[in-house]
Amino acid sequence: MESIKKIGVLTSGGDSPGMNAAIRAVVKAGAHFGVEVFGIYKGYYGLINDLIKPLASQDVYNIIHRGGTILKSARCKEFETKEGRKKAYENILKHGLGGLVVIGGDGTLTGARLFGKEFDFPVIGLPGTIDNDLYGTDYTIGYDTAVNTVVSAVDKIRDTAHSHDRIFIVEVMGRDAGFIALRSGIATAAEKILIPEAKTFIEDLLDSIEKGRTQEEGSGIIIVAEGDDFGGANEVAKKITERFPDYDVRVSILGHIQRGGAPSAYDRVLASGLGFQSVKALLDGRRGVMVGSMNRQIAFTSLEKTIKYNRPINAELHSIAEILGL
Ligand code: ATP
Repeated sequence: MESIKKIGVLTSGGDSPGMNAAIRAVVKAGAHFGVEVFGIYKGYYGLINDLIKPLASQDVYNIIHRGGTILKSARCKEFETKEGRKKAYENILKHGLGGLVVIGGDGTLTGARLFGKEFDFPVIGLPGTIDNDLYGTDYTIGYDTAVNTVVSAVDKIRDTAHSHDRIFIVEVMGRDAGFIALRSGIATAAEKILIPEAKTFIEDLLDSIEKGRTQEEGSGIIIVAEGDDFGGANEVAKKITERFPDYDVRVSILGHIQRGGAPSAYDRVLASGLGFQSVKALLDGRRGVMVGSMNRQIAFTSLEKTIKYNRPINAELHSIAEILGL
């Protein structure tokens, strides 16, 4: 097999803190192994539209601490079509790329798998999403930072909730997964955590709120993942107000602040390690895998498996959260 001399790197889907640290590691690893690295701007859109430029070590200087992604990210419908992917492959040939590192979530890795198969092309995936919902890694790049962002926001909300005896319903990101909600909920001692993976019965929720009140805890924090069955924080607030019209119930939807900000040390280290390993994996002849970290060891999982399986929530931790929240 001919050795790989040029590779491309892109970030796609929702951005996540730590993507820059991963890009930096890919570029630096490329320099270390004597491989030229090309940055593909705006994800798959840039691959189709030839937004491709060489990235040197000086291009990734002073970025490890920055949120977002210097390569920018995008969602690209055209890449979901065969014609779109063909255009992308033509640009791969035009630049003589021998491999691709894609950094993103479930959708991004789905596209990567299709592309790699269709053109028999070496693609390595890196788990870049705040949601932590990818099979094959304990943590995704950006998750730890997002949780810390939520924790610092909820700590502030708790101060005002306590001062005014208010119940705050805080909505966090997670359309299909409750990882952010569960972890931040435990860290902020939330009275209740609502996640898509576990059904919460409205009566149980109302009872535990009432119980909290009678224990003279006038205030309370309920963390809701946006994809929870109740339909988000506003719906939960409505149900509580219907039952307890005299309670002072407020909603806070944290939104996009969860995606931004300087990555935590954990995310920087994770992204650096995985970024380096992705280049090494390409040079070792691996393809069609996601590079993750499991039990503090590097783990390669086929993209097929990563996409097919859902990462389960830690059920034990969820039960503990229920007990501690009461
Ligand atoms: P996040 O988890 O943060 O939302 P993501 O990577 O899952 O990130 P998506 O918007 O689902 O984000 O996907 C990103 C891009 O991946 C899409 O815009 C599209 O270009 C590509 N993609 C997604 N699904 C497919 C698919 N089935 N076939 C080909 N490409 C796809």
